[in-house]
Amino acid sequence: MTAARPWTDPNAVPFLQIKNITKKFGAFVAVENVSLDVYKGEIFCLLGGSGCGKSTLLRMLAGFETPTSGQIIIDGQDQDGVAPYDRETNMMFQSYALFPHMTVEKNIAYGLKRAGLPRAEIATRVTDILSLVQMDRFATRKPHQLSGGQRQRIALARSLVKKPKLLMLDEPLGALDKKLREETQSELIKIQESLGVTFVVVTHDQEEAMTLSSRIGVMTDGQIVQVGTPHEIYEYPQNRFVADFIGSVNVFEGRIKEDGEDHVIIASPETGTDIYVPHGIVGVEGQKIAIAVRPEKIEISKKQLIDMRNNINGVVDEVSYMGNLTNYHVALSSGKRVRVSQSNRTRDDDDALSVGDKVNLGWAGRAGVVVTS
Ligand code: ATP
Repeated sequence: MTAARPWTDPNAVPFLQIKNITKKFGAFVAVENVSLDVYKGEIFCLLGGSGCGKSTLLRMLAGFETPTSGQIIIDGQDQDGVAPYDRETNMMFQSYALFPHMTVEKNIAYGLKRAGLPRAEIATRVTDILSLVQMDRFATRKPHQLSGGQRQRIALARSLVKKPKLLMLDEPLGALDKKLREETQSELIKIQESLGVTFVVVTHDQEEAMTLSSRIGVMTDGQIVQVGTPHEIYEYPQNRFVADFIGSVNVFEGRIKEDGEDHVIIASPETGTDIYVPHGIVGVEGQKIAIAVRPEKIEISKKQLIDMRNNINGVVDEVSYMGNLTNYHVALSSGKRVRVSQSNRTRDDDDALSVGDKVNLGWAGRAGVVVTS
């Protein structure tokens, strides 16, 4: 990357600028007034559920769809009317789209041949990129003689060999099983860093987005609802959709009971107690409000957790032992169920909790995030 966090520098010039882009198919709005800046060297993930418009947005960047309105600028150049093959971009498709009758080498060389590059240069570039994706040994194989993960690397090599300034990847790791996907994620980051190419990745997999991205744009219903680093998106979700979509979360509803300058107290019938938030918010007394608390930020104990700012009582009604952590569901008297997750730091289970145990749940004031609906 050019700078560690270029988006925080007011003087940094975005490499990709998306300005008020809308795409309609007939009367249906697939992408609605999206504006976004991506900086050189970023791995920017568009994350959202099926049908939210992320692939359509990606296809507009690559030139395969024409925006209904708005502007796309790549490296200072307006892309209006520029055909896909004239753009300094490339796209790696979900299906990899390798030519089945061609060897790995020929698949990779294809685009360079079409661009009329000299034979010697093609040979050098193909060798270099094959070694970068650690596939040199497979140069003469055909796609059907490769595993899914190997095909994925060839597709990546083919999309990188023309040295695009911007590479779009549509669910690049979707076809791989979990373990291979995790290995390939870190390889993808290494390759991206060594080439300095800017990546825009589409995925519906939140773990993948968290691992790969410099920043994430969360999409729903054709709109980007929040842009931030993985940490910002996870710890400071701006609304309920983002809080719910990324990781697991407890949302407590209530009304503002005390609206202080440096704190807020929320009366919540769901918890049966008041919830303390250690900062002021924009709101008025009596206003409906929700607070999101991640399961791993809640302590659980048979004893009263006296040093926690927020406390609620409940009864354990489900325990799932996962090895590295244990997940609990705790029922409150209001009927609300709270998810709690505790890491298993020791091998002993002297304090193990069982279904039916009366417990106290507690979380620090700063652990909760106020979210709008
Ligand atoms: P997925 O993860 O399922 O691929 P996505 O977020 O990538 O979803 P898009 O492919 O961008 O979703 O589609 C967004 C919406 O636009 C969907 O409701 C889809 O049906 C619609 N859509 C996409 N392409 C067309 C088209 N050519 N004509 C009409 N509607 C379309």
